[in-house]
Amino acid sequence: MDGSLTIYANGRFCRYDEAKIGLMTHALHYGTGCFEGVRGFWSTRDEELYLFQLEDHYERLHASAKILMMKVPHTVAELVKITTELCARNNFRGDVYVRPLMYKSNEEIGVRLHDVRDALAIVAMPFDRYFDATAGLNCTVSAWRRIDDTTAPARAKVTGVYINSALAKSEAVLNGYDEAILLSADGHVSEGSAENIFIVKKGVIYTPDASQNILEGCTRKTLMTLAEAEFGLTVVERAIDRSELFTADEVFISGSAAGLQFVRAVDHRVVGDGTQGPIAKKLADLYDKVVRGALPTYHGWLTRTYGSRKAAAV
Ligand code: PMP
Repeated sequence: MDGSLTIYANGRFCRYDEAKIGLMTHALHYGTGCFEGVRGFWSTRDEELYLFQLEDHYERLHASAKILMMKVPHTVAELVKITTELCARNNFRGDVYVRPLMYKSNEEIGVRLHDVRDALAIVAMPFDRYFDATAGLNCTVSAWRRIDDTTAPARAKVTGVYINSALAKSEAVLNGYDEAILLSADGHVSEGSAENIFIVKKGVIYTPDASQNILEGCTRKTLMTLAEAEFGLTVVERAIDRSELFTADEVFISGSAAGLQFVRAVDHRVVGDGTQGPIAKKLADLYDKVVRGALPTYHGWLTRTYGSRKAAAV
């Protein structure tokens, strides 16, 4: 990390290398934190850094914090303001990733959620790409199952729960794949290690519904809206079986960091003809335009950094 980046921690802006936490910090030992991953997209045309769906991400942070018995010290509107100021102070002129983090900050022994102090930090950094996969992703179904909501809250973006993702991702990569697809405890397709998943069959898009222990992704919601509103496609949320991955015409995954990535193969079964399918292609192309402010209809999803206001609807 670049220590000279400006970050927000303990209620003020400071340098990244000034903001330290102690070795006994509760969240470091017990996974008692929750976070977000927000993307900012630079538009050369507008000389503007657009933060994508910032409110949605901060609403999810508030929801995750509530589940962890935390109180976020700011409203969603205040967090939006702090984040635009943070990006502006860093004078970013390229794509960025913003990582807000709420964490239990007591430095003492004792696992619990109650009676522990909470702290907020927001780090923003230049960001290029999460996957380098123009040829699509080579995926495997993980031996690890997606955390069940009876074990830990699947719909909260909790730091400790990411051991589930880390186990699956490393297993996949060390076995020669790009990404893992996790099944839920009951054996249905849930999601990738840090992405939601979609399949296409005969022109209809299917994606696991909220009861499949998915993290309800902001990008997932965006793609569902765009598919229906711009292309008149039907999106069905339902349980998906593992073998449907093998027979789908298209499979793609979505996430703030990942964007939309098409899946080339699942466990050695080539998806379609192994190239990006027509629905993934038109959604990915549209998504790229939307996030950089090229479509006025969707300016409501963008927050300007330098204009420091919502992108003006034209
Ligand atoms: N599932 C998991 C486990 C994730 O970490 C992410 C990334 N936040 C997603 C799904 C996709 O969510 P989003 O589109 O909001 O980034």
